Amino acid sequence: MNRTVRRIVIILTILILLPAVFFTVNEILSLKQNEEVISKIYSNQLDAILYSVNQYSEDVVSDWASKIDKFHDDLNNFDDVKIHLSIDSFYNQFPSLSIIFVADSVNSEIKLIVKNEDNNSLSKLGELKKSVKNILSENQHLVKRLLTYKKAGYRKLEPIKSDTTTDASILLFIEETPEGLNRITGMMIDPKEFTYRILSPKIQEIAQKEFLISVFNREENYQYNSSRDFKVGEVQQSKSLWIFPDYQIGISLVGQTIEDLVQQRALTNILLIGLLTVVLIIGVWIVYRNIKKEVEIAQIKSDFVSNVSHELRTPLSLISMFSETLEMDRIKTEEKKKEYYSIISQEANRLSKIVNSILNFSKMEAGKRQFNFVESYLNDVAENVYRSYKFHLEQKGFIFNIIKDESIPIIKVDEEAVSEAIVNLVDNAVKYSDSKKEIQIRTGIYDSFAYVEIEDKGIGIPLKDQKKVFEKFFRVSSGNVHNVKGSGIGLSIVKHIVDAHKGKIELSSVVGKGSKFILLFPLSH
Ligand code: ADP
Repeated sequence: MNRTVRRIVIILTILILLPAVFFTVNEILSLKQNEEVISKIYSNQLDAILYSVNQYSEDVVSDWASKIDKFHDDLNNFDDVKIHLSIDSFYNQFPSLSIIFVADSVNSEIKLIVKNEDNNSLSKLGELKKSVKNILSENQHLVKRLLTYKKAGYRKLEPIKSDTTTDASILLFIEETPEGLNRITGMMIDPKEFTYRILSPKIQEIAQKEFLISVFNREENYQYNSSRDFKVGEVQQSKSLWIFPDYQIGISLVGQTIEDLVQQRALTNILLIGLLTVVLIIGVWIVYRNIKKEVEIAQIKSDFVSNVSHELRTPLSLISMFSETLEMDRIKTEEKKKEYYSIISQEANRLSKIVNSILNFSKMEAGKRQFNFVESYLNDVAENVYRSYKFHLEQKGFIFNIIKDESIPIIKVDEEAVSEAIVNLVDNAVKYSDSKKEIQIRTGIYDSFAYVEIEDKGIGIPLKDQKKVFEKFFRVSSGNVHNVKGSGIGLSIVKHIVDAHKGKIELSSVVGKGSKFILLFPLSH
C-alpha cells in the first residue's frame, strides 16, 4: 500500500472508526444499566397509579364521612334502631354503603341506621348489633387511636377486617356531636359494590388502553378487571386496597411486560448502533476508496508526464543530432544525406503522431471530440493502414498480413478515427512483440457487426490486466513494458472511438503467446 494511502487509513481509523467502536462498546455495556433504570421508572409509574386509586377511594369515603357528620342532628334523635323516613334519600348519596352504625363508646349501646327498603327482621338486626359490638371491642386499640387523632383535631378513617356476618368491610371514624361528645361511627361497605360503582369509572379513566387494572380477592376468587379478563398471575405489580384490606389492586401494561419493553428497547438500540457502525464502516470504506483512487490517479498522472517526456525526447534528440550533422556539412555522400533526411522526417512524423494522440486524448477527455460518420468500406480503411505500415514493418523483420472478408457491406464509420484505432493497435502489436514477429489484420462479419482484428504473437497480457488495459494511463507492470515507450493512453483512445461507433472491443490474450484485439462496428449505425 502506498504510504500516503496508509497514512490516510490510519487517520480515518483514529478519527472515525475508533470513536464509533468505543461508543458502540460503551452503549452495549450501559444497556444493562439503562434496562434497570427504565424498569425502575416503569415500576414507579405503576406504583403511582396504584397509589392514586387508593387515594381516590380514601377521598370518596372521607367525603361520605363528612356527609354523615352533617346528618348528626337526625342521628341524635334515634333511639336504638330507628327507621327514618328520609333515610333512603340519605343512603342514595352513598352507593354500596349498606349500614351505618354509631356508638357512644366501645361498650355502649349500638345504634344501626337501616334503609327502609331493607326488610331486616329484628332478630337479624340484633345479631348484627352483637357482631358490631364484638368487632368494636376487638378493635379497642384502634378506637383509642382514632379518639386521640380526633382530640388533636383530625378526623381519621380506619378500615378494619370485614364483618363475617355481612361480608362487608367496616370503616371506623369518630364524629363529634353538637354537644361536644365523641361518637364512634362505622360504615359497612360492600367491597364488590364499591369497586363496581365507585372505583370502576376511576379505574377505566386511568387504565384507558395502556394498562390492565384489576381488583381481586384471592380467597374468594373475586376479580374485577378494567378491560378483558386477565389472570392474576399476569399482574406485574399489586398493592392492598387501603379501604378493603382483604382485597388487592393489581396492574400490568397492555400487551407487553416491562421486561418485554426494556428488552425491545435494548434490541432496537443494539440494532441502531449496529446500523450506525455499518454505515460508518461503509462511509470510511468509500472515503478510503476515493482517496486511494485519487492517490493512484496522481501517481498515474506523474508517470504519464514522465512517459510522454521520455517518448518526446527520443525523436527530438534524433532530429537534433542528425540535423546538426547535416548542418556541419560533414556528410559527403548524397546517399547518406538522404538517409539522414529520411530519419529526420520519420522522427518528425513520430513526434507529430505522439502530439496528435495526446491532443485527441485531451479532446476526448473534455468530451469535445467530434466524429464524422460516412458510408465506407471497412476493408478499405484496414487496407490503407496495412499498406502504409507494410514496408516499415517488413523492414523491422515482421511478417505482416491482411485477410479481408469481401462480403462486408458499406457501413457508417468515421474513417479517420477507425484508422487511428487500427494504427494504435498495430503500433502496440509492434511494441509488444518479442522474438516472434508476426502481425495479422483480419476483417469479417460476426453477428450484426463488421470487425477488424489485429493479432500478434507477442508478449501477451495477463488475464487480471485484460480489462484494465483500456483504462487511461494504465500500463501492464510486467514483461518488457519498462523498456517500451508508451503513455498508457492508446487503448483508451481506441475504446473511446469504438464506443462512439456504438461498437465493442474484445481482447483475447495469453502471456507469452500473443494478443488479439477485435474492433466490432455495428452493420447498421
Ligand atoms: P502504451 O502507450 O503503454 O502502449 P496503451 O494504452 O496503448 O498504452 O496500452 C496499455 C498497455 O496495454 C500497454 O502499456 C501494455 O502493457 C498493454 N498492451 C497493449 N497492447 C498490447 C499488446 N499487443 N501486447 C501486449 N501488451 C499490450
